[in-house]
Amino acid sequence: ALPPRIERNFPSERPANSIRVLQWNILSQSLGEHNDNFVCCPLEALDWRTRRYRILEEIVEFNADIICLQEVDHYQFLSRALRTQGYEGIYFPKPDSPCIYIKGNNGPDGCAIFYRVNDYELIKVETRIVEVWRVQSNQVVILTMLRHKATDREICVATTHLKARQGALLSTLRNEQGKDILDFLENNIDGADCPIIIAGDFNADPTEPVYSTIRSDPRFGLDSAYRCDGIVQGAEDAGQEPPYTTWKVRGEGECCQTIDYVFFSRRHLGVKQVLPFPTGEQIGPNRVPSFQYPSDHFSLAVDFDLLPSSDASQ
Ligand code: NDP
Ligand code: CA
Repeated sequence: ALPPRIERNFPSERPANSIRVLQWNILSQSLGEHNDNFVCCPLEALDWRTRRYRILEEIVEFNADIICLQEVDHYQFLSRALRTQGYEGIYFPKPDSPCIYIKGNNGPDGCAIFYRVNDYELIKVETRIVEVWRVQSNQVVILTMLRHKATDREICVATTHLKARQGALLSTLRNEQGKDILDFLENNIDGADCPIIIAGDFNADPTEPVYSTIRSDPRFGLDSAYRCDGIVQGAEDAGQEPPYTTWKVRGEGECCQTIDYVFFSRRHLGVKQVLPFPTGEQIGPNRVPSFQYPSDHFSLAVDFDLLPSSDASQ
């Protein structure tokens, strides 16, 4: 029998009329088994026949309205399973995913967005291979416009997975990818003053330029949800990112970083609450993935409040 999954709970009941967003790099099956070299994780914990249900449990448990995923290399499985739970999805693979070079792979990995069909109507989908200095990179972004049926407001939701690994050049590259994504956003919201949510694995800690690039872009007024949790609207920011969003042990050592975020437009959305991260003790000495948790990244989940629209025409 498997040990129970790491238990996490929101501090409070889900607020009425809130929008719950789940962000998660689920760990590609091919990369996790063959590329990542998680030296403290038993291989059986990565066996797809059981791991897939732990991924599903984690996604379904929090009952989010909108789900942004990265490293998806079993989209068909997820899409079929999540359809039974009331979700429809969009998937866009990386153009040259490292997965396809792995023996016995299940195709490329990519990003996906799922939304609850009872509550949201898909108005538009745009996908893009992210460019750096006008040249395509191996990273992608999905952008959707979703109509929130209860309020009849359109919300822009995007997800991405930026280039991995450390180094000055790579942090510059991620910053350029961030700029390209912001331009892509501008080109696709057509001047609409709509709420924006950009969730993803940015592979950048909060000191990296891409993090400031996103937060300081005057066009959108974006901030990071976990950082803003508990901050009064309009107050000087004093909040902090969580101490980690990924915590793993590879051959080269332990890696504990904050690199996943849910960015949102502050003039349209308020953070009501966020899902806390498990403690080091809950995670255990071998870190993740493990039998207790199926990915090396933890999921982020945020309850947003839709602020009254300043635009009377909306
Ligand atoms: P990235 O550098 O963005 O990384 C790809 C994946 O590797 C990510 O999902 C990332 O996970 C994971 N990763 C990060 N750090 C490590 C690590 N230390 N050890 C193992 N895996 C890690 O890759 P690109 O999409 O830009 O693709 C380029 C890569 O693809 C090349 O580095 C190459 O390895 C591979 N490739 C191989 C080819 C071949 O012929 N074998 C051909 C083309 C590409 P996370 O984001 O969670 O950190
Ligand atoms: Ca990974």
